[in-house]
Amino acid sequence: MQILHPFAGSVQQYAEQLANPDCYRPGHCPQCQTKHPLTAHGFYTRTLIDTAFDGIIRVRRYLCQACQRTVSLLPEFVLPYLRSGLTVIALFLIARLLQAQTLNAAACAPPPMPYQRGQFWVRRFRVQAEALCVALAALTQPTSAPDFVHRTLAMLDSIGWIAAHRFLFAGVRCHLLGWPRGLAPDGRRAAFSTAAAPA
Ligand SMILES: [Zn+2]
Repeated sequence: MQILHPFAGSVQQYAEQLANPDCYRPGHCPQCQTKHPLTAHGFYTRTLIDTAFDGIIRVRRYLCQACQRTVSLLPEFVLPYLRSGLTVIALFLIARLLQAQTLNAAACAPPPMPYQRGQFWVRRFRVQAEALCVALAALTQPTSAPDFVHRTLAMLDSIGWIAAHRFLFAGVRCHLLGWPRGLAPDGRRAAFSTAAAPA
């Protein structure tokens, strides 16, 4: 299971503080609610494309000795299962949906990327917008935009994308672009699922 790493800062600062397993060690298991602190259990690596970073980051993993399941601490500037960082996705969605730039123009903003990737985000965001709007109403007043997509973008802008993601993921286990099918409804891997991570 993935939970949010309670760390705010740059990719570099994140990498530097990873060395100390005690720094953000969970004091209890989120899966079986045992009251014992979890045991450090190495790292996994994942790619990250951010506005000023394109490479591999490590994600710290802990093991619960009681239920033998692992918990990984995902930094809040990434979205689970997506290679691109939250800021990159936010900038693209704003350019494409709010400023109505063409797919190609929006995909050319740094870091440049294949337009199909942006198309995928737009499609997922449209599907997810109404649920996001409802969930984010706990944090801010919905605005009177013409549709859910614009209303949600305005709400994300007023809350801040990372703060909104933190609330959605940690609070209601909601993914900004929707969980992949094998992980719906709340991001926990379903038994026998072989769902691959999307781009
Ligand atoms: Zn446990």
